[in-house]
Amino acid sequence: MAEELKWLQCPVCKETIYWRVPMEALKKVARFPVPIVIKHKDHHLVCYVDSHHQLADTEVAIAFIEGEAKST
Ligand SMILES: [Zn+2]
Repeated sequence: MAEELKWLQCPVCKETIYWRVPMEALKKVARFPVPIVIKHKDHHLVCYVDSHHQLADTEVAIAFIEGEAKST
């Protein structure tokens, strides 16, 4: 199956964003909804996709900082 192209209106700048559902990555996901971080200009969106690859929820992340866990 080809990658699914989805669109949403950016809650920050109101532009329409087209984004691809990362199908290969979703095959390895055991639990849904799964958050997908989309970078859009200087802000990030967190889109939650359910097991049918439908958009379940969207959150705005003005800044996205990747936390790093360190084992001692
Ligand atoms: Zn935007």
